[in-house]
Amino acid sequence: MRDLSTSSSHRGVEEIEDIRISRILTWLSLMAILFLGGIGTKAWLFGHTGHALTLWAFSIPLAFNMFWFARTGNRTVQKSGLIATVGALFAYLIASGGENNTGPLWFYVFPPLLFYLTSLRTGTAILLFCYLIAAMVFLFPDLPLVNTDYTLDFKIRFFATLTFESILCFVLEASRLKARNELMALARAHEHAARTDELTGLANRREMQHRLDAEFSRYQRSGHHFSIALIDLDLFKGINDQYGHHAGDEALRTFSALTRQIIRQSDIAARWGGEEFLLLLPDTSLIQALALAERLRAEVVSTEFMFREQRLPVTISAGVCSIAKAGSVDELLKQADIHLYSAKEAGRNQIAPRVRPHQGDNGSGPTP
Ligand code: GH3
Ligand code: MG
Ligand code: MG
Repeated sequence: MRDLSTSSSHRGVEEIEDIRISRILTWLSLMAILFLGGIGTKAWLFGHTGHALTLWAFSIPLAFNMFWFARTGNRTVQKSGLIATVGALFAYLIASGGENNTGPLWFYVFPPLLFYLTSLRTGTAILLFCYLIAAMVFLFPDLPLVNTDYTLDFKIRFFATLTFESILCFVLEASRLKARNELMALARAHEHAARTDELTGLANRREMQHRLDAEFSRYQRSGHHFSIALIDLDLFKGINDQYGHHAGDEALRTFSALTRQIIRQSDIAARWGGEEFLLLLPDTSLIQALALAERLRAEVVSTEFMFREQRLPVTISAGVCSIAKAGSVDELLKQADIHLYSAKEAGRNQIAPRVRPHQGDNGSGPTP
């Protein structure tokens, strides 16, 4: 039977999240380019030509990253490109000191951005790498590319505050993810419940109606035939009356499990209501559908429906119809219902329309 899980809709939620992140990244990149332009201009005006040119130069990879994303729509490249550029920019600001050694202050932007864009593990790894670069700059001011020196107080405070911020960001992001996952699981459970019949675990009527409409659209688009079988448990009221409601429930569950075993992966079984079930059989002709229904009927006859060590007298009747014989889903259901009625009229424990006599058992009505 087709999977009733909601994986497709989850993909939808994740997709929406990805689109949102990408939009934020585009805005962040734009802001970064504006800031680089502004701060670079200020550095230029104050005569720090090299610093100004470097800052302006950093807008090139940012702009290219935006352009590339607009062309390819590749979100992974967009994220990695931004992290790499911003990481390199911050490394430069620490190594050069920026203006009056204020460059490292920009580093505080990094932890929340990193944890938001990557997983907690990747974010921590990149952050530790950045710590390493900062430590190298602080410990070895004579390294090439390093052209500043910070006071001991600044170094200690910088590390202490950055560590504090990083841990806070980690904890906040971890709890955001936890809440998000819990919400997703809740949504999943609700969605599953809205599509599933509680007693039998089969699709419910609402879900089946959607599937029928979808299958009918497919039939109209591409001419793929399908059939349905409307199944009703015979004299079920009698089972309830004689063995109790719990026995009736157990019979419904056992029948559902049996149905699940017999139908194909692509078929859908639903509890249509009470003791009525509906099978939707894609790419199936009337003859094939009749054969399946007949197999199910015979299987029900040979299965022991037990409740508290008593055997329940369960049989089924079914009305089958193919879309070739109906112009709409309503018409199809109506035809199947008419056939079900004639199967009941003809003595129950049988399938209609009848194309050939039953084999294997005598096909007579149930023995209540
Ligand atoms: P027929 O062969 O003509 O279909 O006879 P029937 O007794 O099966 O049909 P009828 O419509 O008279 O009775 C259906 C019974 O199914 C009555 C109802 O109490 C029982 N039923 C419907 N839903 C459930 C359920 O969820 N659990 C149980 N135990 N019984 C149910
Ligand atoms: Mg019935
Ligand atoms: Mg009924």
